[in-house]
Amino acid sequence: AEPVLQLEDLTVRFQLKRGRLTAVDGVSFTVHRGETFGLVGESGSGKSVTARSVMRLNPSPPSEVVRGRILFEGENILDKNDSDMRELRGKRVAMVFQEPMSALNPVYTVGAQISDALRTNLGMTKKEAQERVIDLLSLVGIPSPASRFKNYVHEFSGGMRQRVMLAMALSCDPTFLIADEPTTALDVTIQATILELIRSMIDRFNMSLIFITHNLGVVAHTCDTIGVMYASHIVELGSTNEIFANPLHPYTQGLLNSIPRLDTQQKFLTPIKGLVCNMLEPPNGCKFHPRCEQAMDICTQEIPQMKEVTPGHFAACHLHN
Ligand code: SF4
Ligand code: MG
Repeated sequence: AEPVLQLEDLTVRFQLKRGRLTAVDGVSFTVHRGETFGLVGESGSGKSVTARSVMRLNPSPPSEVVRGRILFEGENILDKNDSDMRELRGKRVAMVFQEPMSALNPVYTVGAQISDALRTNLGMTKKEAQERVIDLLSLVGIPSPASRFKNYVHEFSGGMRQRVMLAMALSCDPTFLIADEPTTALDVTIQATILELIRSMIDRFNMSLIFITHNLGVVAHTCDTIGVMYASHIVELGSTNEIFANPLHPYTQGLLNSIPRLDTQQKFLTPIKGLVCNMLEPPNGCKFHPRCEQAMDICTQEIPQMKEVTPGHFAACHLHN
């Protein structure tokens, strides 16, 4: 499949009152047509800033892209004007969030909101839009969609709100979906059904997906490829099978040891020791070194570069140099 989204050396800086912070540092990866890409890491690692850069949703100021390119279908998003960006957000790339209330307006019925988007973005008539909304609500598994059309967001349960937000995201036939922790706030069984729903929509419409999560276990069955982020860098990149079978970076190994596994008799999970990196004063060398049990002298001095360790499997760690 051809590449749809290519991030090349993306570097995003925030100028805050407390100081300057590089939230995304030299991030490069490619997502192909139909591919599902999991972006995994702790909160504050730069996952959401990376994803929002694709939609150009990071407020500027205080954020600034200081280096790199974001090619979407071959065109650099960073060169686009505001009207091109509106077109891109409305029709080609859609995003779902952890909190549906941030995407859905509480004072309009969900039917009115989604049909407004359809009329604005696709020029549908009122009647066409209404029919399409009912189809969409049914597609994402909302029971009696015709009668739910006139409901407000608060009249839906947490899981149903996520379905409504997904319907909104799918309304304009995007080719690319970005899901930022869409299941984190839900309980485990609802998480699984929403994940399954997203996966089936991706397959059905041959979309590409970036799925953001702090839980490596969540992407095991959802994503083809995984990028692990730590403290603004991608530290490991490879196929999901490779990452689970042969994790190269100590941080990825730590993430794997901290997820519950059904296939072993493991009694205790081992959280990664140490504190999350302070991004305003990151350590020299490998940013993971204060927490790494395998750290060597070089790790405190030199930032490890991304290296292809086995075909298609990359890691940024001095153990693999
Ligand atoms: Fe650990 Fe060194 Fe690898 Fe960083 S570069 S993860 S400190 S071994
Ligand atoms: Mg986030």
